[in-house]
Amino acid sequence: MCRTIAQLDAELTACRSCPRLVAWREQVAHEKRAAYSDENYWGKPVPGFGPADARLLVVGLAPAAHGGNRTGRMFTGDRSGDVLIAAMHAAGLTNRPTSVSADDSLRLLGTRMTAPVHCAPPDNTPTPVERDTCRHWLTAELTLLAPTLRAIVVLGGWGWQALLPALSESGWAIPKPKPRFAHGAHVELAPAAHDRAPLHLFGTYHPSQQNTFTGRLTPAMLEQVLTDAAHAAGLPGHRP
Ligand code: SF4
Repeated sequence: MCRTIAQLDAELTACRSCPRLVAWREQVAHEKRAAYSDENYWGKPVPGFGPADARLLVVGLAPAAHGGNRTGRMFTGDRSGDVLIAAMHAAGLTNRPTSVSADDSLRLLGTRMTAPVHCAPPDNTPTPVERDTCRHWLTAELTLLAPTLRAIVVLGGWGWQALLPALSESGWAIPKPKPRFAHGAHVELAPAAHDRAPLHLFGTYHPSQQNTFTGRLTPAMLEQVLTDAAHAAGLPGHRP
């Protein structure tokens, strides 16, 4: 039962609940990619990043083996992060357009980033058991953010499916049938508890190389969803 986001982040980084992911994150951190052979990999669960009173939450999938698992910060040091942070900066959600290392002075403005699975998985693919094992961290994070949280952007269908049960557990009503993921999807969730506010849920394709190299997701498409979500959350953002 963590009382603060800082406590949650600290406890999360010591988690060893998924044997396969613990082994993988540590193996990658030991073997390293040649380009980063002189760096000390993080090799632990990667906590969410951003202020504890965020109004907007960006939910991905899981840290990248040589990105977050190397740098210790979400969407930092990999191609997906490059695309995401550039779009967030264009939407007025960060103080700088790049995310290189944990000490690069990047700040998220009224926004936090997290993932349903906090350890890098082989082939970027957690198992259903690993997804469900990690969900209590996401539920706890949503609960702690609830007083200020007004909108969420989910990056991809996998994250969308993983997030819905955590939202239900943390005090929002999930319509039946469940809202379906699509790029540009926008659903307003009603509170299921007296101390919750309505929550805007947005979907966008994940900024993976598979999507960005093929043009399935362009920077303009991602920036548009982030801008719409920023305004729904009551953040100033930038109008494209
Ligand atoms: S994926 Fe989540 S539950 Fe599993 S070891 Fe990492 S932090 Fe713990």
